[in-house]
Parts: sequence; structure tokens; C-alpha cells
Amino acid sequence: MTTAPTALGPTPRTPRLVDLFEHGLDAPICLTWELTYACNLACAHCLSSSGRRDPRELSTAEAKAVIDELEAMQVFYVNIGGGEPTVRPDFWELLDYATAHHVGVKFSTNGVRITPEAAGRLARNDYVDVQVSLDGATADVNDAVRGPGSYATALRALEHLASAGMRNFKISVVCTRHNIPQLDDFKALADRFGAQLRLTRLRPSGRGADVWDDLHPTASQQRELYDWLLAHGDNVLTGDSFFHLSAYGQALPGLNLCGAGRVVCLIDPVGDVYACPFAIHEEFLAGNVRETGGFAAVWRDSELFRRLRAPQHGGACASCAFYDTCKGGCMAAKFFTGLPLDGPDPECVQGYGEQRLAEGRGGRPRPSADHSRRPRPVDLVLTRREDPARPPVSDCAQDPLAGLRLT
Ligand code: SF4
Ligand code: SF4
Repeated sequence: MTTAPTALGPTPRTPRLVDLFEHGLDAPICLTWELTYACNLACAHCLSSSGRRDPRELSTAEAKAVIDELEAMQVFYVNIGGGEPTVRPDFWELLDYATAHHVGVKFSTNGVRITPEAAGRLARNDYVDVQVSLDGATADVNDAVRGPGSYATALRALEHLASAGMRNFKISVVCTRHNIPQLDDFKALADRFGAQLRLTRLRPSGRGADVWDDLHPTASQQRELYDWLLAHGDNVLTGDSFFHLSAYGQALPGLNLCGAGRVVCLIDPVGDVYACPFAIHEEFLAGNVRETGGFAAVWRDSELFRRLRAPQHGGACASCAFYDTCKGGCMAAKFFTGLPLDGPDPECVQGYGEQRLAEGRGGRPRPSADHSRRPRPVDLVLTRREDPARPPVSDCAQDPLAGLRLT
């Protein structure tokens, strides 16, 4: 332990929060729960390769049992995502059940079911927050990644939320090579709707692995983003996802810690528990909520989580002057680009990650499951093209919202 000499003798240094969190907590403080793999969109970078519902998804009763557990563990809120969570027929029932059981809900949506009625309902519930995904401040940039019409859908949802009197809901942006030049525009958009901007990092997870090389910000854009965050950080959320950029000098606000299995985890639609929402792979699978002991047993006793909570050595990064804040970056980003977990992040601001990638060692692991509706990796420019090689599919299999009329 580091001590500082005083007239009264050495005073033990007060442990930093981050030092405590590294050893894990009794309950996660950032629990993501993906309710379904079904989605009306087919975003090029979808971290969970969503599209089609999985028939093994948790039933309403099973999902309520998970909420009961979260309440007993005093998990204050859960990040609900998917897929598009609102396409689950019991979505609103589960949302009401969670908030009635003292588990606040923050959910991510592409906006497809945020009608004026839904927006009014959300505005009346103090324990719910909404994140509308938008990956371009203009339709051309957004729709190239999220699909045709997705910008208009998201903007309509934002208008409905603002009109219903909801404040500080989130506009959630995955930062890419194409939208980094739009940071000021995103902020203006958020201000226009009385919303808060949330910027997150693109990871090479799920279908993101297929587009990582083309979409991840360039080195100069990373610097641009870092400078922008320093200037606007007080009003912009990041989910602590850019801590690898702290190696530019000044630490960004946040824990600056990979929380996987320590304070962060994912419950996927079939009840599998992974160390992090961006690490959907057998390597990071800790258990399943359907097993004896449920989620609590997985969180407290899984062998994987015990290992992640043990003291980590810095590996190749240990001698880096910025290791204290960068900590070698994101485990998932390293894993899915084929880099060793104790090596530098692929976007290491010192350039060591790129150097290792150029050396070309190690293949890139594929995600555990793929629920994409397309039988092959998605194109970056999404257009509705007929592919004669593909078997015909029903409207329903093609689009879980087939026939839905939007207001
Ligand atoms: S693996 Fe990456 S995304 Fe997941 S908690 Fe660690 S740093 Fe965050
Ligand atoms: S060498 Fe490692 S600790 Fe240093 S900046 Fe790069 S990723 Fe971060």
C-alpha cells in the first residue's frame, strides 16, 4: 500500500473506487439484459448479430423470476436491449414488473415502437430511461449503417418523447469513421430535443467484427474524439467506453476500468450470462440463469468471474506510462481482433495495437451465435436487394414487424 509521510506518521492511502471495483461487487452495477434477438433492422455493426428471435428465449415467467432475483440482489437498474426489445409482446409487462419491483429500467431502442402513447407512458414513469440509437446526425450517414428509413424512425421517436414531456432521454451513438465529423451536429440534435447525448465505442463484436476495419475511427479521429470529449465531457455520457483514450494524457471522466465480470455483465435472450455485452463468445460465458441458483449463483460463484476479479498483471502494457488509466484497453476489442488479452488494445493510442495487428498473429474468433436474418455478412451500404441465391422467406421471418403500421 502507498503511504504519505506526515508529522503523525504514515497515513494509509484511501482506496480509490476503481481499486475496489477491480475485485468485483456483490451485484453488478451495469447489468445489460438483451430480451430478444428479434429486430426489425439489420445494423451492420450489431454487437449481438441480432435479427431472428431465438426459440429458446426466456419466457415471461422466467424473465419475471430474473427480475425477482435482481430485486433481491439490490440491482438498482438494468440496461435492457436486444435485438429490438420492444418487439417482445410482453415488453411493457416486463418493464412495469421491473419498476414495480424496484429495478429501474434503461432501455435501448431503434424507436420503431415509440408511438405517442408509448412516449406518454414512458414520460409518466420516473424509473425508466430511454436510449434511442442513432449512428448518423444525417440520414445518409445513419442509414448506411442502420438501414434505410432508420433515421426517420429514430427522429420520429425523439419527437414523440419530447412532445410527451420526457426530458434527458438519451440519443445513443456508436462512434464510427463516418460520424466522428458530426459530433457537434449530434450535440445540437440532442439539445433540440431536450435529450442527452451518449457516445459509445464501436467494438468488433457480433457483426461489428465484419465491419470493424472499415468503420472504426482512424488514429487522427480518435484524437479528435478525445479532444471533443474533454471539451464537452460534462454534458455527454460515454458509458466509460473510451478509457483507452486516456493514454493521450488527461484521464476522461469515469472509472477507467474494464468492468467485465467485476461490475458489468450481460444476460442474453436465452439466459446465458457473459462477462460483458461485447463479449458474446464461449470464452466469456459464465453460466445460465436457468441453472440452479439462478443469476445470483452465476454472478457470485462462476469460475470465469472469479478469474476476472483476480489481480491482473499488465502483460505487454505493464511498462507503459499510461497503464494506470488505460489498463491495456478493452478485453472484447482485443479478443475479437485476435490480439492477446494481456496485450495492447487494437486502438492503442501509442500505435502498439496496430503494430501487433500488422504482424498478423492469431486469427479472429467468431461470435458464438449469429441470429442475423441474412445468411452472409451484411454490406456496409444496406439496400433491399433480391438475392436469387437466397431461399424465399416469409414476411414475418424477414421482418419481425411485418404489417406494423406506425403513427
Ligand atoms: S470488455 Fe471492453 S466493453 Fe466490456 S467491460 Fe471490458 S472494456 Fe468494457
Ligand atoms: S501500450 Fe497498453 S496501456 Fe499503453 S496506451 Fe497502449 S494499450 Fe494503453
